[in-house]
Amino acid sequence: MSAWVSERVTPGTTRLGAAVSPKGRGLQDIVIVGGGPGGYASALYANNFGLSVALVDEERPGGTCLIRGCIPAKQWLHIAQVFSTVSHAAEFGVIADQPTLDWEAALARKNQTVEGLVRGLGGLLKAKGVEVVSGYGRLAGPGRVEVETDDGRREIEGGSVILASGSHARTIPGYDFDGSSIVSSDHALDWPRRPDRVAIIGGGVIGCEFASFLIDVGAEVHVFEVMDQILPGSDPEAARQLQRQLQKRGVKFHIGVGVEPPKVGDSVVVPFAGESVEVDVVLVSVGRGPNTADVGLDTVAAEVDRGFVKVDPQTMQTAQSGLYAVGDIVAGTPQLAHVGFAEGIAAVTHIATGETRPVNYQAIPRVTYTHPEVAEVGINEAQAAERGLEVETAKHAFNGIGRAIIIGENQGFAKVVYERGGPIVGATVVGPQAGELIHELMYSVGWEALPDEAAAFVHAHPTLSETVGETLLSAAGRSLH
Ligand SMILES: Cc1cc2nc3c(=O)[nH]c(=O)nc-3n(C[C@H](O)[C@H](O)[C@H](O)COP(=O)(O)OP(=O)(O)OC[C@H]3O[C@@H](n4cnc5c(N)ncnc54)[C@H](O)[C@@H]3O)c2cc1C
Repeated sequence: MSAWVSERVTPGTTRLGAAVSPKGRGLQDIVIVGGGPGGYASALYANNFGLSVALVDEERPGGTCLIRGCIPAKQWLHIAQVFSTVSHAAEFGVIADQPTLDWEAALARKNQTVEGLVRGLGGLLKAKGVEVVSGYGRLAGPGRVEVETDDGRREIEGGSVILASGSHARTIPGYDFDGSSIVSSDHALDWPRRPDRVAIIGGGVIGCEFASFLIDVGAEVHVFEVMDQILPGSDPEAARQLQRQLQKRGVKFHIGVGVEPPKVGDSVVVPFAGESVEVDVVLVSVGRGPNTADVGLDTVAAEVDRGFVKVDPQTMQTAQSGLYAVGDIVAGTPQLAHVGFAEGIAAVTHIATGETRPVNYQAIPRVTYTHPEVAEVGINEAQAAERGLEVETAKHAFNGIGRAIIIGENQGFAKVVYERGGPIVGATVVGPQAGELIHELMYSVGWEALPDEAAAFVHAHPTLSETVGETLLSAAGRSLH
């Protein structure tokens, strides 16, 4: 299939690249604004169909996930895990000197991981023939993107355009980011040294992950959550389990508490409910807003809801024919990297074939990479009740699981939610390797398996997966241990 990215050179702009097609002939071409998971997955996937792609990003492709999100955050969590494992080695009869954390070396490790992946992605995009255009892109009417490059303005025309401009950290009144006293996760991933006392505003996924990492490397940590539980929206029992385990390690939680504007001096005082805490730095993690304020959405017919772009979930197409949106900017879908990947695949499938391959949002795994991890798929009991579903649950704890005892991590449980007499509709695992274990339950939810069908498989012994197997047996009404 032949395809082009067509280029028009307007006065004062420069021509880049060689592939120029007459206007209107580039019907299979795609121009993508944003090179994060949504954008780069779209670009890579388009190669399956022989489509030519221009990928516009003001930075190197990688996006929040590779550069300021999933990857660096998980690297820090793993560093904390290694530190904690060595610190507790004596529990297994392994005598090691009390470890110290070389923050500079740890930061270098984080940077090395990010750099390796960003470079790898660059190589992959090149190998697949994607033209990476460096600069800030804006829609300039249907099928057109204007890019501010170092060499001037450039207009790129495509048969289809995918907007994947991602998201940014939000804050609350009085807590404007200054990069040192009041920071977002962007700054916190690059702290030059460990802060001794940290207040985290927001006990969602990102806030809890930072709390887990910071407490394990020896910081004093306060978490403020205005809702009545951490990980709002998650299974309350799982949230309590995580809270208990973090509390045991020293995290101080202030739940159902709103903070007032801080007093910033040499330290930061965070007032709340007639009290206050004094810390070195405040990390605000209260959610992420879409990067759509200045991407030219006013030049097309797309519909927007509080900044998020509305799409047809079958195709990811916006109200503007030929304009697609994927990733964190999409209205009403989870802000997760793998959701961005899947939405990119759905959009490109529609562009290339006219067929639909909608994302099965019901079966998207959602993982909080704290220690212990919390992983969920489908719906929990409260969400089932909201939908008027009559559900039952089965649960099995890690505390009797041989492998969990061997590794000294036998707190937590797996829980499945199933319709009375019907299929499994959701699951939660909190405990060791929960983020891996959830994938088995993802199949059960995605394939709408009955508990009896899912329980028919035998799990290897001794594995952590046995926790899931035991839970499924209980759900099928024939528990073993
Ligand atoms: C600390 C943290 C940890 C996270 N951990 C996880 C995790 O473990 N798992 C998970 O699934 N998700 C995680 N996420 C969320 C994940 O990073 C996002 O869901 C994902 O990156 C969204 O992908 P995206 O392609 O929509 O946008 P982004 O990754 O935000 O990428 C958007 C890209 O577009 C570029 N851009 C924006 N506007 C323009 C423009 N006008 N012109 C040119 N370029 C532009 C940006 O430079 C950026 O590269 C985490 C997020 C954070 C902040």
